Amino acid sequence: MLQVVKGRMLQAMHKGLSRQTHAQANVRMLPTYICSTPDGTEKGDLLVVELCQSHVRIMWVTLLGDGNQSPQVMYKIFSMPGDIMQGKGEALFDFIAQCVRQFLAGISSPQHRLPLGFVFPFSCRHTRLDKAELISWSKGFSCSDVEGKDIVQLLQSAINKQELYHVDVVALMNDTVGTMMTCSMAGKPCEVALVVGTGTNSCFMAMAQQVEMAEETSGQMCVSTEWGCFGDDGTLSDILTPYDQCVDEESSNPGEKRFEKLVSSLYLGEIVRHVLTALAAEKALFIGSNVAVLRTKGVLKIQQVLEIIDNEEGMAEARRALEALGLRPSERDCCRVQQICQAVVSRAATLCAAGLAAILSHMCQSQELKRLVVNVGVDSELYRGHTRFGEILQSVTELLAPECMATLLPSIDGTGWGAAMVTAVALRLAAQRHEVDQVLAPLRLSRADLQRVQALMRQEMELGLGWESNANASVRMLPTYVCGTPNGTERGEFLVLDLGGTNFRVLLVRMAKDGIHMASKIYVIPTTITQGTGEVLFDHIIECIMDFQLKHNLTEQVLPLGFTFSFPCQQLGLDKAVLLSWTKGFSASGCVGQDVVQLLQEAAQRKQHLGLKVVAVVNDTVGTMMSCGYDDPKCEIGLIVGTGTNACYMEEMQNVGAVEGEQGRMCINMEWGAFGDNGCLDDIFTDFDRLVDEKTINAGKQRFEKLISGMYLGEIVRHILLALVEKQLLFRGKPCPKLQIKGIFQTKFLSAIEIDGLALRQVRAILQDLELQASLEDSVLVREVCQTVSLRAAQLCAAGLAAVVEKMRENRGLAQLAVTVGVDGTLYKMHPW
Ligand code: ADP
Repeated sequence: MLQVVKGRMLQAMHKGLSRQTHAQANVRMLPTYICSTPDGTEKGDLLVVELCQSHVRIMWVTLLGDGNQSPQVMYKIFSMPGDIMQGKGEALFDFIAQCVRQFLAGISSPQHRLPLGFVFPFSCRHTRLDKAELISWSKGFSCSDVEGKDIVQLLQSAINKQELYHVDVVALMNDTVGTMMTCSMAGKPCEVALVVGTGTNSCFMAMAQQVEMAEETSGQMCVSTEWGCFGDDGTLSDILTPYDQCVDEESSNPGEKRFEKLVSSLYLGEIVRHVLTALAAEKALFIGSNVAVLRTKGVLKIQQVLEIIDNEEGMAEARRALEALGLRPSERDCCRVQQICQAVVSRAATLCAAGLAAILSHMCQSQELKRLVVNVGVDSELYRGHTRFGEILQSVTELLAPECMATLLPSIDGTGWGAAMVTAVALRLAAQRHEVDQVLAPLRLSRADLQRVQALMRQEMELGLGWESNANASVRMLPTYVCGTPNGTERGEFLVLDLGGTNFRVLLVRMAKDGIHMASKIYVIPTTITQGTGEVLFDHIIECIMDFQLKHNLTEQVLPLGFTFSFPCQQLGLDKAVLLSWTKGFSASGCVGQDVVQLLQEAAQRKQHLGLKVVAVVNDTVGTMMSCGYDDPKCEIGLIVGTGTNACYMEEMQNVGAVEGEQGRMCINMEWGAFGDNGCLDDIFTDFDRLVDEKTINAGKQRFEKLISGMYLGEIVRHILLALVEKQLLFRGKPCPKLQIKGIFQTKFLSAIEIDGLALRQVRAILQDLELQASLEDSVLVREVCQTVSLRAAQLCAAGLAAVVEKMRENRGLAQLAVTVGVDGTLYKMHPW
């Protein structure tokens, strides 16, 4: 049954978390905007105001940043005039503000800014840590003009009225949250709290993105479950006993707070009383006594119940309590009463355990952990000093959530100290956020920045196209002699070579009416060959072709051959391409300045391979455009975002300075990776980009590519992480030797880390491989860094593409251009965004 209750609690929690069902939820799962637990570095002077049942406590806390080992605390309690709780709201807040003024006058505090945390133990709808509307009063409070108002503002105005302008209300929280924070120690954060007193509630650190009622989407946020109302929709009806029904009917709020009425101390005595009444009526107890006294509400106090369940003194206490009511209990009566009290308290403990187990399982699941190890702060008069409740709570929680290891910590100092922690943590987070933003700011490009990049790209394109200006352009704008895109009617059988990516491939492609058929084989080219002599390289390529032809029975045929050769080439014809420079780790000698088709033909001759008919040499961008163009005639742009980045597009012949002829169009291989090599992007580059560039084999070259493509994004992230560690903003500032290694943070990690949802397991696994012990906050920050770097890459790529499409539109004199971009490259394909 307890498993079932746990399951129902989980359901109710989900209902409260979801935006769609929140309004109908009983367990309201209110966001608190508390996003972190103390890490021990918090320091400074803080003021705490705690509004309690009949008094206000004002507290001064000085934190020394020493792991919160030795906070200096001073406090004063101000008892509240009885009429204030039901009076005007303004009077309540004026009273609190006066207490603050008196307190500060008493200690002659300095006049610097004094942050204040306010413990306000009522259900509030938070929209920020310092903005919270009261949903409704409870616990005997009913001040007018407060419900629906922002409590922080009411307190701040009252404080300002006292001319305490340096006091700044920065956080508002309820008592449950205060308990959680109170139990948090340096290096041992407490992430769950349970309050079982006159009422009951719990809170825990949830994954912020699951708290749909809050705007935050990353990291954690403490949620106040408001679980006292669990069961108000009837979900607990099958476990309610007739005694519970009686207790509920006699309460001031029948039908409400059903869970609270099963577990909290206000009601346990009452439940026992109703059991005794029923058993007496059946003559099973107190035979011969006048039991009328048992009809009086509240005659059995929780304190008595707790003393009765004590094994040693309990029987004597039972007798004392019953005799005080005028009953004449037999030995057996006393024994039974003790059993009844034990049953009622045990049930309360097991139900709390079911609720706690639901919270723990939820946390374990949403953090994608196999095993959750967590501290649970408990503030309860049932718990303190009464081992039975605690023992049951502990053991039943273990039974119901075996995947979690919870350590229960009794709250020692109430909630005030916790409130100081909340306030201090809020200040620490704000300061850290400011520093992180400063580090990342140079990587965050505005729309104006991107428009400038677009304009510069356009300018470089024009320079590159011009016959005379080409030499000064960073974007080479190489003619490809590809003068048309496919229309889908092309047919035939072709041999294809693909060199210049990660792999060398040979393909047989048949384009037929029923579609394109392909057979291909990947051949590894060892580094000794890619960095050896050109002769050996091209000989090897011919050997691969011969092997492929043999395997596919093609030795008798001479098929037209297309050669995807993805290195910068000066083309002199469709089948004539002079290599300008090697890139991507190739350095075979004797090739630069040569026509690669010629090199291939010479190798064929050396190998006595006579059936090679090279028709076209194309860059991979061109290949991408053409293959997409076969299906979509509007495809007139090719884009690659893989190891490197590049683009091509269909330009008007009349604009292509390097080739004679004015008619029609020609595909231009932009070689845009080199955009910015003339310094025009210098103000976009950050220190991180400069660090990455310096360590490449082509420093100062391919500057645009180094902001965008797979070979570099991981490196940029690595340098940012190192900077954050140094500024103590990540991994608690602990040095990370492995992170010093070039290339250790791979670009594919960005894809894994940025995937939709938190993918925390991935983040943790990746960081663990790097021997980094990441807290959840660390994981979230690493993710933010990855997102920032990827976003910038995609935006810059888009700015470049925008320049291309704008030029094409203008070329054609159109108001609007419809064009398709064929895209290839693993970064583009694998990155989630
Ligand atoms: P190439 O550009 O060499 O032809 P690819 O298009 O396959 O080859 O790109 C390879 C690059 O893609 C690698 O350098 C690597 O940085 C990047 N990469 C590999 N896997 C992923 C991934 N899952 N997410 C993002 N980038 C990746």
